[in-house]
Amino acid sequence: MAFKTGLLLATALFPMSAFAQVVPEAQRSAIVAGIDKRSPELAATAQTIWGWSEVGYQENRSSALLQTQLKKAGFTVEAGVAGMPTAFVARFKQGEGPVIGILAEYDALPGLAQTTDPTKTGIAGKAAGHGCGHNLFGAASVASAIAIREWMIANKVQGELRVYGSPAEEGGSGKVYLVRAGLFDDVSAVLHWHPGDSNGVSTGRSMANISGKFRFHGVSAHAAASPEKGRSALDGVEVMDVAVNFLREHVPSSTRIHYVITSAGEAPNVVPDFAESYYYVRNVDPAIVKSVWERVTKAAEGAAIATGTTTDHEITGGVYSMLASETLARVMTRNLEGVGGEQWSPEETAWATTLQKSLPTQKPLASVQAVDGRERGPDGGGSTDVSDISWTVPTIGLNTATWVPGTPAHSWQAVAASGTSIGTKGAVVAAKTMALTAADLFLSPQTLAEAKAELLKARGADFRYEALLGNRKPALEYRKPTPAWEGKTR
Ligand SMILES: [Zn+2]
Ligand SMILES: [Zn+2]
Repeated sequence: MAFKTGLLLATALFPMSAFAQVVPEAQRSAIVAGIDKRSPELAATAQTIWGWSEVGYQENRSSALLQTQLKKAGFTVEAGVAGMPTAFVARFKQGEGPVIGILAEYDALPGLAQTTDPTKTGIAGKAAGHGCGHNLFGAASVASAIAIREWMIANKVQGELRVYGSPAEEGGSGKVYLVRAGLFDDVSAVLHWHPGDSNGVSTGRSMANISGKFRFHGVSAHAAASPEKGRSALDGVEVMDVAVNFLREHVPSSTRIHYVITSAGEAPNVVPDFAESYYYVRNVDPAIVKSVWERVTKAAEGAAIATGTTTDHEITGGVYSMLASETLARVMTRNLEGVGGEQWSPEETAWATTLQKSLPTQKPLASVQAVDGRERGPDGGGSTDVSDISWTVPTIGLNTATWVPGTPAHSWQAVAASGTSIGTKGAVVAAKTMALTAADLFLSPQTLAEAKAELLKARGADFRYEALLGNRKPALEYRKPTPAWEGKTR
């Protein structure tokens, strides 16, 4: 997909003053009341999806539940878009006007199953858990969209509202395929949110990344009787890892490289003929990610030569770094400040006090009541596939306190809180803030034009979008083990 470059407008277009509210107070109150009314359903939906904990591209029930709610509320739902069975676009259109998109996620993480106890407690027979709170993400975005639709109808607002059901955020890069398929080309602005441990509009730059699996193929043999006949695929993996660990010294220092070995043979007395490692390369600069990834690939080739094995690899994910819209951040900040933080009951505070004892960082629990305003946050940290959208359409999001302060994402503590009313209260703050922001944008063509001009300027005149994962089809199997090589016993 190529982008037309527009005229670069003078910086005078981007005044630093706060956004002037355009939606009348009575309508704002009605939007907020609509979400309060819907919050029991939001909570039930979030907890149902939390209980299912479906991992990337396997979120069949979670996606279907959100689609059903949107259809019931009057949206037209197109399922299975961009080659992903669990992706969808829900639309509500009323006349001609701006197109505002809201993102919904719903995938869980492997290996993080946890009850809602405030102490570490696994669940027998269950592996995955909502350690990134995407159960809340999907439920709140849908509740928010339903409230915006009601406001559009009540006030005869012209335009189109969309909910993008985007699967496999965790390593599957689901949104990249939505962008690549052109599903955002006619969108004026995109809103999103993410569970967290504080309330703030997020304008920091996340990391671009490429992730993929390196597979080595060798020859099996008895490890004691005829080792000279064997060629160990695991040797290939280990030599590659050593080479990459030396490579770390010679890449830009803000680069992150991490891996796990996902297949390493099964018995020491059999030379393994198949082994695999799963790599991530990250940097805020997508160009650096691309160049370091190429060098990691060379390390794999060198390891194969050294060990007499062969290697191939598959890129399973690739995302840009976030390009948050400053223009839209002003609108969202004002709305978040109006909505305010969360108020916990004495029971919720007691639960949080117990859980907090397990956290490495102790932050005041009362901080969830506050709004941090606009968080310019440090560049770096994790990665998100929202980033590819942010290079395509003016995009802004917020974090809300759905977890006990000090909780890191992808932890059992995050899973536990995401299944409780503490999680739901943060999700309600997000739903209200997104709904009020969408309403403001529907009525502010000037703001949308400024946001567009800002994006064109930020990404540069010669920018052409090329997905970091290339033109591959969605990696629908990335959460499943790689099948045995050529049917050989491993
Ligand atoms: Zn995550
Ligand atoms: Zn997440």
